[in-house]
Amino acid sequence: MAGYPKQGAYSDLPPAYTDDGFAGGSSQVGFKTEGQLPEPTAPTQVFIQAQSQIPVAQPSVVYVGVPIRLGDHPTQTVCPNCRANVSTNIKYETGLITWLIAGALCFFGLGCGCCLIPFCVDSCKDVEHFCPNCRYMIGRNRKL
Ligand SMILES: [Zn+2]
Repeated sequence: MAGYPKQGAYSDLPPAYTDDGFAGGSSQVGFKTEGQLPEPTAPTQVFIQAQSQIPVAQPSVVYVGVPIRLGDHPTQTVCPNCRANVSTNIKYETGLITWLIAGALCFFGLGCGCCLIPFCVDSCKDVEHFCPNCRYMIGRNRKL
């Protein structure tokens, strides 16, 4: 019999749930902010599309596409393989011009000893340029 008065005490609690009124007020504020957002987001999407159209990899393509002018001496250049700024290692290779000079010397009646001179003269040979870092052949200076 003593429990009935306690139920009466619980019945006094429900009036404390008046927070529902505050929750409804805050949700209305949220709807107002969402309604204002769509207008500024539309122009920002256009800017992102414009930036994505600019290819970032263009400079690297220029290095590969443009042939590097190489002379008879070690040249300061950018290696297309390892992208390092290097001074090339050069190597003289017998090329078409070497054989043509040797053939010309034989044609003009010079002895077989003289026709071998072009093979000993570096200026009569092609020059190959190698990267000292990765041994990549950067280019070849052909005399013909
Ligand atoms: Zn390299």
